[in-house]
Amino acid sequence: MAGNGSQSGDSLPSAKEDEKYVTISALDGGHLTLPEYLFITDADPERRATVPSLCFLIQHPSLGNNGRDTMNLIFDLGLKRDLTQYTPAMASHIANRQPVITEPDCAGSLQAGGLEPDVDIDIVILSHVHWDHVGTPSDYKTAKFFVGSGTLHVLQNGAGSHYPAEIFNKDLLPTVATFEFPPTSSGDQSIASGRRTGHTWQSFAGFPNALDLFGDGSVWVIDAPGHIIGHVNLLARIGKDRWVYLGGDCCHDVRILKGEKGIATYDDGHGGQRTVHMDTQAATKTLDQIKSFLGKNAQVQVIVAHDIGWREKNKDKFFPGTI
Ligand SMILES: [Zn+2]
Repeated sequence: MAGNGSQSGDSLPSAKEDEKYVTISALDGGHLTLPEYLFITDADPERRATVPSLCFLIQHPSLGNNGRDTMNLIFDLGLKRDLTQYTPAMASHIANRQPVITEPDCAGSLQAGGLEPDVDIDIVILSHVHWDHVGTPSDYKTAKFFVGSGTLHVLQNGAGSHYPAEIFNKDLLPTVATFEFPPTSSGDQSIASGRRTGHTWQSFAGFPNALDLFGDGSVWVIDAPGHIIGHVNLLARIGKDRWVYLGGDCCHDVRILKGEKGIATYDDGHGGQRTVHMDTQAATKTLDQIKSFLGKNAQVQVIVAHDIGWREKNKDKFFPGTI
C-alpha cells in the first residue's frame, strides 16, 4: 500500500518547534562471559565471548532532586560489584559465566563521570531482573525504581522452571520506592503489582504498547515481552530526528536484529529444548517488531545490553561522553 510513514503510524514523528530532547551516556556495568551456542544459530560450539552489561544514563531537561537542572534516569544497573550478594543458587550459575568483571560497576562509572549515585539519580528503570542487569540498587538512595509489570512477583516467586525463586534476591528493590508499569491489555493481570506508576500504554511508532515516560514524547518505555516477565526497552529522542533504542536483552547478539542469525535452541538439561528467552514465541514477535521499526526509521541507533562490538567502537560515548 502506498503512503508515507506518518500515515501508516509506524514511523517516528518529525521534530516540532519546542521538542524536548534527552542526553544519553553509556555506562560500564561490569562484564560476563557467554558461550555463543546459547544465543545464536550456527554458532561455533567452543566460542565464548566476554561481553559488557551496558547501563545508560539518560538526562532529561527538567528539575531533578536537590534542584538539579536535569532529571537523571538510569536504564539497567549491570552486575553487582560484590558477587557474594547474589543468592547461592545464582552464584553457581555465575560460576559458568567466568571471567566476570565487576569493576567498574554502574555506580563506579557514574562517579568516574562526576555524578554521585546516592544523591544524583532520580529514576532507575530495570529492563528486567536477571542477575546481570540488577546491579546494586541500594547505591541509589534518592531514586524511584520502575520495573515492568509482574517483576515484583518474579522476585518473590520466580518465573517458570528455568528461573526458580531461589535465584532472585527477594529484597532486591526498596519496597516504598518501587513501582511497576501497569500491565498491558494482553499482559498477565494476575501477577501485576498494585504499586503502579500512573502511566498508560498506547501505540507508538508501530509498537502496540509504549508509554510516554515524562509526558513530553522524549522517552518511551516499550513493552518487549518474551525474554522474561516484565522485560521493557527504552526509545529516546536525543536530537532533531535523532533517536536511540535501548533493547535490553531482546537479543544478546545484534546479528539477530540484522537477520543474519536466529535465536539458538539448546538442551534444557531435563530432556527438552529451550532458548535464552522464557517465551520464545513472544520474544520472536518482539524482535520482529523491533526489526520492522528499525527498517522504517533509519535515524535510530539501536544498542542491546551485551553488544561488545558497540562498546569497542564507541568508547567516547561513555559518561561523561554522550551518544
Ligand atoms: Zn536477561
